Amino acid sequence: MQRVVAATLLLRWIADLRDAAVALAQIMAKGRASARAPLKLPVMRILGIESSCDETGVALVQTTGEALPRLLSHALYSQIDMHQAYGGVVPELASRDHIRRVLPLTRQVLAEAGATLADIDVVAYTRGPGLAGALLVGSGVACALAASLGKPVLGVHHLEGHLLSPFLSADPPEFPFIALLVSGGHTQLMRVDGVGRYALLGETIDDAAGEAFDKSAKLMGLPYPGGPGLSRLAEQGNPAAYKLPRPLLHSGDLDFSFAGLKTAVLTQSQKIGPAAHTEGTTERADLAASTQAAIVEVLVKKSMNALKTSGMKRLVVAGGVGANRELRAQLNAACAKAQVRVHYPELHLCTDNGAMIAMAAAMRLQAGAQQAEARYSFDVKPRWPLHELA
Ligand code: ADP
Ligand code: MG
Repeated sequence: MQRVVAATLLLRWIADLRDAAVALAQIMAKGRASARAPLKLPVMRILGIESSCDETGVALVQTTGEALPRLLSHALYSQIDMHQAYGGVVPELASRDHIRRVLPLTRQVLAEAGATLADIDVVAYTRGPGLAGALLVGSGVACALAASLGKPVLGVHHLEGHLLSPFLSADPPEFPFIALLVSGGHTQLMRVDGVGRYALLGETIDDAAGEAFDKSAKLMGLPYPGGPGLSRLAEQGNPAAYKLPRPLLHSGDLDFSFAGLKTAVLTQSQKIGPAAHTEGTTERADLAASTQAAIVEVLVKKSMNALKTSGMKRLVVAGGVGANRELRAQLNAACAKAQVRVHYPELHLCTDNGAMIAMAAAMRLQAGAQQAEARYSFDVKPRWPLHELA
């Protein structure tokens, strides 16, 4: 019965989305230009749309010849408040909210850049991985908008967006480098030799680092997503108070595992009792600090191992957990000792955003790794390993 209701809701929602896309295409269809053939450098303006999970992000990036693309403007709407009541992301609510936000954000981005729809040369969107319904909103709107403008579209890999996001910072890296990708859904170490040239060195065999933060934070009674709250709480605690495991620390490879840590935090919190999730207690702050110390130690050790075995002297950290202060402090110290340069995205561009999607599209176009196409029959890829990226 529940399945029938879910299927009905999904069908109704897809119909809503299709109607919205058709309506949008009709509004924009005035003065439709003929679809352009493959793009030529130098100057291009790329609109990027991110909608893979619980953040709607839109941005406008400009490329000029071979120079690093420049961010003209970006806007973000986070749905966190809406999902907090449920303790996690509700996919159906996420999809519907993306529909509400994406066009106002697009208008805002264009206005802030002093641009109009006619200035857009390419429309980029997150093709995957992510929630299918949420991805469909971004891709549907991107394709309808591009079709109406007679401009090509380009589907971007969400993780490539994170990976290249440090290129938006004031101190951008240079290829090649080792990348530590740490988000709510992924924990990976990669060797990056250029745009589209990614080799996976190791990854988590179960939970992601962000997931370990979030699930542990939930046990401490912190609201979703608990990573930032746990890290604030940890500042008041003693990281050596509780002995928690460092999974796979000495495994000799570059893989991670965080599921066991979460269980250890659960066991420890049960031993502590109600103080483990009561606001203002020393026990809770100590548990947060001890949990963070365990996650950070493993991330730092494995990153340094990846640098050592590859002989690389450059590390790039990307993804939401890259905003963690303790992780940054410890990586900075370890990298200084090993004479390695470490690069981070700007703090506000660590979690999901449209700027990284527009940037990844711009860099792919510049590198000739992909062409934007005037093909609007989009297909999203909810599951899409980065190494499958051509
Ligand atoms: P995803 O796209 O996989 O959802 P994001 O890149 O958007 O991931 O990052 C979200 C994740 O980052 C969440 O798990 C969140 O708890 C975590 N996170 C954000 N800020 C911090 C922080 N300061 N410390 C630890 N984790 C953080
Ligand atoms: Mg992300």
